[in-house]
Amino acid sequence: MKLFGTSGIRGVINKEITPQLALKVGMALGSYIKGSVAVGHDPRTSSVLLKNVVISGLISCGRDVYDIGLAPTPTTGIAIRVFGCKAGVTVTASHNPPEYNGIKLWNEEGVAFSEEEKIIEDLVHKNNFNLQEWDKLGNIFYKHEEALEIHKEEIIKNIKIKGKYKVVIDSGNGAASLFSPHVFKELGNDVISINAHPTGYFSRGLEPNEKNLKTLSETVKNTGADLGVAHDGDADRVGIIDENGKYVDYDVILALIASYVSKEGDIFITTVDASMKIDRYLEKYGISVKRTKVGDVAVAQEIKNINSDFGGEPSGTWIFRKFQMTPDGIYSGAKVLEMKEQRGDICELRKEVPYYDILREKIPCENSKKLEKMKDVAENVSSYEDIIDIDGLRVNLKDSWFLIRPSGTEPYIRITCEAKTKEKAEKLMGKCKGLF
Ligand code: MG
Repeated sequence: MKLFGTSGIRGVINKEITPQLALKVGMALGSYIKGSVAVGHDPRTSSVLLKNVVISGLISCGRDVYDIGLAPTPTTGIAIRVFGCKAGVTVTASHNPPEYNGIKLWNEEGVAFSEEEKIIEDLVHKNNFNLQEWDKLGNIFYKHEEALEIHKEEIIKNIKIKGKYKVVIDSGNGAASLFSPHVFKELGNDVISINAHPTGYFSRGLEPNEKNLKTLSETVKNTGADLGVAHDGDADRVGIIDENGKYVDYDVILALIASYVSKEGDIFITTVDASMKIDRYLEKYGISVKRTKVGDVAVAQEIKNINSDFGGEPSGTWIFRKFQMTPDGIYSGAKVLEMKEQRGDICELRKEVPYYDILREKIPCENSKKLEKMKDVAENVSSYEDIIDIDGLRVNLKDSWFLIRPSGTEPYIRITCEAKTKEKAEKLMGKCKGLF
């Protein structure tokens, strides 16, 4: 059985994700890594349970553990660096429903495991653990408050805001609940905090998208706030509401922030499913776009490969290399506020990003048939000139593009089409569906 999906190990508690499995993952990581490990978790009802067994696994293999407790995923990234750890663990299922949980592993640089996953998987399957004698076991250092304090200070040190703004923070009852509102307050703002009880029961869907942020939109409008900032369950992502209480699409805010933090000649890293709005907008600034596979790991690796400063996915997951390699939804939100102060209101800036129509559909396809089907599609589109085939097939046309990509987790092949008008996008979608 494959343990790792596109974002670590994920599943329903006591079904796919059991304490026994978490113990083995802890022991496998403890056997593989030669050094201490930072461990944090989100507020799910099952998170403390899983965290404790992961830690038991690590110390049984002689690893010292820095337990940062309930904390955003990016705090794990900071903790790895400041406590000199060789790896990190976050117990979280990110934006999944409350019955889910997961284990995400990070390397010394705060980049999520990818190649290393195979080694961990192999150790788990073979029950091959480096268990230690009684006098060689690891220690646990409790660093909850210290880790959060350091993370907060790092953000404040690296964000330049002079004014005082009214900001509404929607933590989604997730890991940012007891953190993000304080960070924005200490940056000098008036903060209204909603959905900030980290009980493991979530009062909205956890993805910071338009559908889930209706309350935040209304709160921004009703209080006359200057900005709304939302996070997912583990706060590696950000969602933005502008001064008019309107949700800002992932692609639009990504284009704006990329233009703000990059300079002429820079290469901005994003994924194959990102809109061409981004390319067209960044052209004006002399910034080029390079695409990777979907997933923050691929973005992080490409940032390192070509030594770029910034990359992001159109899911509110952004990586600022000079700050840290772990996606940080709180720093991202603060950076948007800084951009607003420097460049003007988001409700005005968003108008500068060109508008295209984007359509998404999915075609049912059994997992076992996906490979064969994609081969057929590849043959059918082979006459196009500009094809990116690193993750599904993205075909770039003059003023439009389409992406045909098998879902990593569900029995579907997904089609995305974008064009200048809705009619053109629909026509393109019809063409794509004709390939099936
Ligand atoms: Mg997340």
